[in-house]
Amino acid sequence: MSFGRHQKVPFVDLAAQHAELRDELTSAWLETLDRSDLILGAAVEAFEKEFAQFLGASASIGVGNGLDALCLTLTALGIGPGDEVIVPANTFIATALAVTGCGARPVFVDCDPHTFNLDVAQLPGAISPRTRGIIPVHFGGLPAEMDAILLCARQHGLSVVEDACQAHGATYRGGQCGTLGVAGCFSFYPAKNLGALGDGGIVVTNQRELADQLRRLRNYGQQEKYEHVVAGVNSRLDTLQAAVLSVKLRSLPTWNAARQRHAVRYRELLQTIGDLKFQSAGEESTHVYHLLIVQSESRDGLRDYLAKRGIQTGIHYPVPIHLQPAYSSLGHTPGDFPVSERLARHCLSLPMFPELKESQIEYVAEAIRDWFQ
Ligand SMILES: *Cc1c(COP(=O)(O)O)cnc(C)c1O
Repeated sequence: MSFGRHQKVPFVDLAAQHAELRDELTSAWLETLDRSDLILGAAVEAFEKEFAQFLGASASIGVGNGLDALCLTLTALGIGPGDEVIVPANTFIATALAVTGCGARPVFVDCDPHTFNLDVAQLPGAISPRTRGIIPVHFGGLPAEMDAILLCARQHGLSVVEDACQAHGATYRGGQCGTLGVAGCFSFYPAKNLGALGDGGIVVTNQRELADQLRRLRNYGQQEKYEHVVAGVNSRLDTLQAAVLSVKLRSLPTWNAARQRHAVRYRELLQTIGDLKFQSAGEESTHVYHLLIVQSESRDGLRDYLAKRGIQTGIHYPVPIHLQPAYSSLGHTPGDFPVSERLARHCLSLPMFPELKESQIEYVAEAIRDWFQ
């Protein structure tokens, strides 16, 4: 016990990341300022090319945020009122909001208790004649079981749109997450593995038609200036953010590797402590640890104790989507998706960001051991 050694460990530390890149980020802004091509400028086109290349995809379309990436993709696929789209019950609400946003109905599926990803065994039971698509989420950065999902989708003629908002750089059986379905959607919310200095998002696809439709949809449905061929929206990736993202993309592999090292260290230090269980590490995939999630039946007590020791944690997510007031009209009740509900009660996300120091991980682990003793 070493209560004397009090540290503060933040959940994420963006200032540390930005201090490291200060000069490069500043010159990227200044170049944008000098060009002042502020809407869909050269930096957007450059970043779209770089991000598509990074993933080995043929096209990417920068948009305003991750939610719009998902919602516009569904719209571009012709999904709307009267249609159903399958989403996991345990994800950030944006996955479901994308479905309601395009006018369709979200149909929830429970998650696997070890991977926290969509339980593929429950997929067939969720499919109806109205089902048009599936949105698997690579939860916390761990790739979903894409082979089984894609097979099921093929058998039923469904589109698979990956919610890769927590999985920049994750791979599944050698393929990049975001390039496995018909389209992959990413968020650049600042705290994601690749984050802007504000909001941002992108869709990655190998389908030319889909890419063209997304380019129209994000920009008022314009084909040519003032020729509006579809009722689109204004959701463009900001030029300044694109300039920032180009700088940061170069560090993404290093950052993901650091996250993976931190995860290994956490596991070493916390292997057999109390009832603590880790999210699976993934066998045929690379987990990029957007989140480092553990489970314990005494989650709330543990979380309070860690806060007293100066350690910030998160809960992803405290209320599963089917029990959120926003979706009360779907008529779900507690017990409908028991694994997600249990996870909501027991999951805890520990501090995880590339700049985390080994001494901080040791301090967190020591505090967790103290709590269980
Ligand atoms: C962050 C996130 C989104 C939404 O991204 P925004 O850029 O905040 O709109 C969607 N799905 C998941 C799983 C996310 O984590």
